[in-house]
Amino acid sequence: MVILLETQVDIGDVFEEFLKNFQDIPGNFKYMNQINEIIAYRKKSIIVDFNDLFSFNEKIANEIILNPLQSLTLLEDRMIKIIEELDNSYPLEVEKVHVRIINLPRVIELRKIRSSDVNKIISVEGILTKQTPVKERAYRVTFKHVHPDCNQEFIWPEEGEMNDIITTPSVCPRCGKIGQFEIVPEKTKLIDWQKVILQERPEEVPPGQLPRQIEAILEDDLVDSARPGDRVKLTGILMIKQDSIVKRGSRTVFDVYMKVISIEVSEKVLDEVEITDEDKKKIQELAKDPWIKERIMSSIAPSIYDHWEIKEAIGLALFGGVQRTMQDGTRIRGDIHVLIIGDPGTAKSQLLQFAARVAPRSVYTTGKGATAAGLTAAVVREKNTGDYYLEAGALVLADGGIAVIDEIDKMKDEDRVAIHEAMEQQTVSIAKAGIVAKLNARATIIAAGNPKFGRYIQERGIAENIDLPPTILSRFDLIFILVDKPGSEDQLLANHILDMHGGKSVKNSIDVDLLKKYIAFSRKYVNPQLSDEAKKLLADFYVEMRKKSSDTPDSPILITPRQLEALIRLTEAYARMGLREVATRDDAERAINIMRIFLEKVGLDVESGSIDIDTIMLGKPKSAREKMVKILEIIDTLAQNEECAKIKEISKEAEREGIEKQSTEKIVSDMKKSGLIYEVKTECFKKV
Ligand code: ADP
Ligand code: ZN
Ligand code: MG
Repeated sequence: MVILLETQVDIGDVFEEFLKNFQDIPGNFKYMNQINEIIAYRKKSIIVDFNDLFSFNEKIANEIILNPLQSLTLLEDRMIKIIEELDNSYPLEVEKVHVRIINLPRVIELRKIRSSDVNKIISVEGILTKQTPVKERAYRVTFKHVHPDCNQEFIWPEEGEMNDIITTPSVCPRCGKIGQFEIVPEKTKLIDWQKVILQERPEEVPPGQLPRQIEAILEDDLVDSARPGDRVKLTGILMIKQDSIVKRGSRTVFDVYMKVISIEVSEKVLDEVEITDEDKKKIQELAKDPWIKERIMSSIAPSIYDHWEIKEAIGLALFGGVQRTMQDGTRIRGDIHVLIIGDPGTAKSQLLQFAARVAPRSVYTTGKGATAAGLTAAVVREKNTGDYYLEAGALVLADGGIAVIDEIDKMKDEDRVAIHEAMEQQTVSIAKAGIVAKLNARATIIAAGNPKFGRYIQERGIAENIDLPPTILSRFDLIFILVDKPGSEDQLLANHILDMHGGKSVKNSIDVDLLKKYIAFSRKYVNPQLSDEAKKLLADFYVEMRKKSSDTPDSPILITPRQLEALIRLTEAYARMGLREVATRDDAERAINIMRIFLEKVGLDVESGSIDIDTIMLGKPKSAREKMVKILEIIDTLAQNEECAKIKEISKEAEREGIEKQSTEKIVSDMKKSGLIYEVKTECFKKV
């Protein structure tokens, strides 16, 4: 008599049945198709959707969650068996094959990983910040026993056993004696290996806290499948670091890492912001408002009084223009870079923080950078392990979004060199310590900087006022200056600040959450084209400005093709604010207008009365610059004969050079303020 107590089901059999029989649509054998591709194209892995496993058989799905190591090995064994059945010449000895599981039911936040997750299969999302070069890991070594009585070779670890770290055997498995073991390199099996660091996405890090990170190991076909700066979902098994057990001896505190089973790289830009159908309705409703542009501007940092053109510039940067790829493959950025230079305490940092808060995807940093990678990227060496890593900096991490950089004038020398490429080509190239890479940095820059001399000196060009080279300055689409001058506005500003502290809000403003969704929606779905009228207006403006420069002999170039590209982007951004696919004449007019404000505020050559883009980028207007140099020379000469140069004598000498007295006095007083000269005694100066 036979009594059946319980049906014993072999999990391996169920896995095999799953691979062979699962059909996503009737007649389509999803996994057999993939296995056939392995054979046909020497692919290295199949991708198994966890949901498929679950719908096929709940028990095996659970088994994967509870015992991932054993069950995955089992699943792979069955796949190998199927491959052998289909093609007995398939070189499984050489080609390792893998099962890559995706779509686990639960994604764990990096900061919520706990001890109970060790040895479990988990999914985490984040941004890849670092990666090592590809190395080779020996997963099966052939040793030779160096002993006169033995000299035999053996494979280690023995078949069936798999360890990430191979330790030399203590006794020879062939003869049982101890002794020396030599590796036979040509008989050692290697697999591509790479270590990466996954970090929380910048927008997920609670304010004021450091982002959490985890080390992850990629092997074989996963190697190099994502780059620093990529937003990814990693599925893998959380393991305890073997070497940390050895190194720390009896202390039982371990580091964990993830042995990665699958990587999903997020292609979709801006999918972090969830937009519901209800949101969509609200967004479309808002877009109908004829005053939508004004409403957007008044919703940007409403607690900050005035500074309208800066808020407008930030608004434009948040929406951005459309990236275009030309027929010859060159790419023209759609990102609008904005720079604010200003006196201390003029709310620059506040404006930037708001921009970072409302941007759907953003990285907030300072010029110095939060990490060794700074603003662009770096090759860093880790102290404990000696490993070299390629580490992504802020602009790479902000790929597809907005990089908000405060105190940009303090940026590191390496970044000063690399940022040019990042701002225009929107890539970061690095070649150092054997690492050669090109990372994407398609990010908008909204930056602020402090004046070089503490306060902004209006009589000087921007280039002289900020510690940034003209080549970087000229890559900004809009630059604004905030000067703190006491006066009539003080009462209004005080009232505004007091009102805001009292809990008042600005009329008609859109709340931050909705505005964020509105921006995300627009950036994702709205790609405006310029109408013919808009094109004509921009072209006319450009031609006229260029003509002005050629009309006046010796005049510096007024405006360059860079500004024309900027105008196109600005026009598109205005259209995006209204969710319009066509940028109208009105959009172009507004773009010209804000460009004019920027040029006039920062570039107007006060003495010649013309707008001079060279002034902005290269510094002092020709005329005034020459005067200053001359006067400095005069002071220097005069002070050589006497202790210092008296203002009267400076003026007299200067007049001989054609500089009027008033001009001289002003220039001397400016040079004194900016520390180029100092007053030795009353009205008597010397060069520093
Ligand atoms: P900065 O970065 O330019 O040195 P902050 O952003 O740190 O200046 O601003 C200093 C303080 O002054 C902040 O608390 C800010 O809110 C306040 N403040 C300065 N200008 C304004 C303004 N126009 N409206 C409201 N608050 C202002
Ligand atoms: Zn031996
Ligand atoms: Mg500041």
